[in-house]
Amino acid sequence: MKASLCLLAISVALLAQEKQDKFEYWPGASYDPSVPTEKQVIGHDPGDRVTRPEDIVKYMEALAAARPHQMRVFDYGKTWEGRRLIYCVVSSDANIRRLDEIRAGMKQLADPRKTPDAEAKRIMARLPAVLWLSYGVHGNEISSNDAAMMTAYHVLASRNDKMVDEILANVVLILDPAQNPDGRARFVHNFEIAEGLKPDASQLAAEHNEPWPGGRTNHYYFDLNRDWFAMSQPETQGRIKAVQEWFPLAYVDLHEMGSDATYYFAPESNPYNPYITRTQRDSLEWFGRNNAKWFDRYGFSYFTREGYDEFYPGYGASWPLFHGSIGMTYEQASTRGLVVRRSDGKIVQYRDTVRDHFVASVSSCETALRNKDKLLENFYQYRKSAIAGGATEAVREYILPREGNVSNVDRLAANLAFQGIEVKRATAAFQNAGKEYAAGSYVITLAQPAARLARTLLDAQVSMEPDFLKGEEHRRESRQPSEMYDVTAWSLPMQYGISAVSSADVSEGSFEAVKPGEVPPGKVIGSKPEVAYLVPWGVSSAARFLAAGLQEDLKILTSDKVFKLANRTYPTGTLIVKVKDNSPDVAEKIDRLAKSSGAEVLTTDTGWVDEGVNFGSNRVFSVPRATIALAWDRPTAASSAGATRFILERQYGYPVTPVRTDQLARGDLNQFQVIILPDTGGGPGGGESYETILGANGGRRLNDWVQAGGTLIGLGGGAVAYLADPRTGLLAISQENVARESTPAATGGGRGGTSPTAALAAGQAAPAAPAPPAAPAARVPGKLLTSDQDFEKAIQADTELPDSLHGVLIRAKVNPEQWVTAGMPDTVYVLASGRAIFTPIKLDKGFNAVYFAGPDQLLASGYMWEQNRKQLAYKPFVVVQRSGRGNVIGFTEDPNFRGYMDGLNLLFLNAVFRGAAHGR
Ligand SMILES: [Zn+2]
Repeated sequence: MKASLCLLAISVALLAQEKQDKFEYWPGASYDPSVPTEKQVIGHDPGDRVTRPEDIVKYMEALAAARPHQMRVFDYGKTWEGRRLIYCVVSSDANIRRLDEIRAGMKQLADPRKTPDAEAKRIMARLPAVLWLSYGVHGNEISSNDAAMMTAYHVLASRNDKMVDEILANVVLILDPAQNPDGRARFVHNFEIAEGLKPDASQLAAEHNEPWPGGRTNHYYFDLNRDWFAMSQPETQGRIKAVQEWFPLAYVDLHEMGSDATYYFAPESNPYNPYITRTQRDSLEWFGRNNAKWFDRYGFSYFTREGYDEFYPGYGASWPLFHGSIGMTYEQASTRGLVVRRSDGKIVQYRDTVRDHFVASVSSCETALRNKDKLLENFYQYRKSAIAGGATEAVREYILPREGNVSNVDRLAANLAFQGIEVKRATAAFQNAGKEYAAGSYVITLAQPAARLARTLLDAQVSMEPDFLKGEEHRRESRQPSEMYDVTAWSLPMQYGISAVSSADVSEGSFEAVKPGEVPPGKVIGSKPEVAYLVPWGVSSAARFLAAGLQEDLKILTSDKVFKLANRTYPTGTLIVKVKDNSPDVAEKIDRLAKSSGAEVLTTDTGWVDEGVNFGSNRVFSVPRATIALAWDRPTAASSAGATRFILERQYGYPVTPVRTDQLARGDLNQFQVIILPDTGGGPGGGESYETILGANGGRRLNDWVQAGGTLIGLGGGAVAYLADPRTGLLAISQENVARESTPAATGGGRGGTSPTAALAAGQAAPAAPAPPAAPAARVPGKLLTSDQDFEKAIQADTELPDSLHGVLIRAKVNPEQWVTAGMPDTVYVLASGRAIFTPIKLDKGFNAVYFAGPDQLLASGYMWEQNRKQLAYKPFVVVQRSGRGNVIGFTEDPNFRGYMDGLNLLFLNAVFRGAAHGR
């Protein structure tokens, strides 16, 4: 009995072994044994483990070492956690020997102004097709990285495979095998610590479900697949630089989606960004059809033209399009581990998913190979038509006047130059269309190859196709899911809080080219002062100066009032560093800080101001070196917590203490002057509220801490809803249900009211937080419905939240008299998304420091539902409530959204640093 059982076990094991051995990545392939396998280098076969990021680098280097004449590895950056970012170039011996020539050839094609048709033809005849495949930008979309290794192995090691030989000869294949190694490391670690006897197929098993924050994002919890034009993260910066060194003809970003799906590839779904050309859209189909050919042959399921759009320019699949490449997304249904049971009962192994991405990768090489000449010609023509369009279309130039927050103007110019847009700085004043612009202003003349990228990033409005919008309105009304994939607005001048002028005229004057990433340094203007240094507020560099100065123990004052001194007006918030308050080496410190922060520092030998308050006024406050706590972990949205930490630590250089949210209910809060509650929602723990984690005790403790002088800042609808919850009682406003046309809450009024008080008076009492539902009566009085309109009315829910916004840029009006708005312009642009709308705060409770514009002025960019436009008008964006000796500040939309709303940085930093100055 025992023996037979044992035999049975052995035969089962053998069967399993045989089944495993039969698994083929490319049926019939035969490989050269001199090329190292994954098993030999990193100890497992392809798809048998979720490979750790360091092992991916190790294997790629082993391949390159074994085949140096066919593969090279390049470093293009380092992550925040110190991991290497690499891309690998795979091609024939002949091509690898002339990589410099190939790169130079693509650069020549990229600028038709210097490369006329005849020369372009000669260059194209010698060029292979550069194809760029990028894997795992989302660190928990695991199969693509393993497919990258398999792809490199297959192309290098295949024997007697005509297609592979042709690929090597005609394609320069660039593999970016791990775009987000920090995120992947987080996934792999969570997966490995949850593993047991054998891989578990249950979707509920811990190994399939990551704890907060998950591995999708990078170290600062940025979604790197939204960061392309913002380029805030080292991964993106390195990649953008590398892509411009090669100008690949096609760029594929390989992702994963939910386990129950199949496989997705190009063409993308509607809407398309209008700056994507017809030719580009047609060539998406070449790649899709070729993938379909192989997927059909091997019996893999797939779908196209659904779910993934090409509208937002900050995806890996879209940004390269605006340089003339063919950008695409591929998506594989994820196993989120080594095996998963789909909802339909089907078991999927990890290696199945690795194989699909691998086959799609090889298929894409084939498409590039077969269409090489057309792709080269189309790339050249794209760049040519961009120049021609820029020279003849209605907008021929963008001007960024150097005014307002000049450090943001400089930063945007440098950012545009970094992504390959030609930007010029005026070395003398110049005129355009009868208007005069100061020296230092920037000009983007659109007769250039990157014109379409410039347009899509700088235009105030980029619109979706009307037919698509009609469909969206219908889906919204009938409660079907929206097909919009991401935000509908990203106009960079608005996001940077600066002005941009579009012009039909081309400026003449004296200009110099802006170098990528180049920002002018700051300086001290005037001689060593007797009395004080002054740093005018209202520019981001002044905030960098403040953050650095506090850490060097400078004693810094800030004024709540405007003052005039020596014919110059200093805005509220201006920093005053008195010589007598500080150590004898203050001059050297200030000099150094001005340079590193970019701030302009003025000097004064007198404290006598011509107008406004003196430095000794009680409207002048000392800024403390505040200790900042940031709620971390559930229920926060990792993206909001991460972006907030990133802005404070990396953009402004000030340290933050992230505190696990539940510890805010237990630990000693008195060590902090500022506590920030980021927005909630999304990702692991999504849908939870602060109430769930903090409990009644946490709420009480926060209240006590504010009373004693703390500054509590809530970011976004999730955090403000918590502060406004009557049980918490920290902020005397209420979240609104949808306002129906027939109810008093929707009647609005107050049109044309420009002062905050007028708008306040106009604010209507809106329903408070949703009331607990009354027990439904068994019967209700009968009611006659006599028209379709009656029917429509009868089916509307009584209490529900407004429709959710996908992300629009809206205007908000600034009350200049509040300390939290110091240095801000009259109007700011806010990224509004989601469905949280709040009532304004009453005059006896606090002040509405910034509130949304009226319905006709509200929408600045993007697509917005009518109902939300009406209901958001005159509602608060920033609310401040004095409470005991402290303050509670609510931002009803997250000012730190994706870390790219630079125009709101000062407002947020005012809440932090000026809030601390106004506490206790
Ligand atoms: Zn993804």
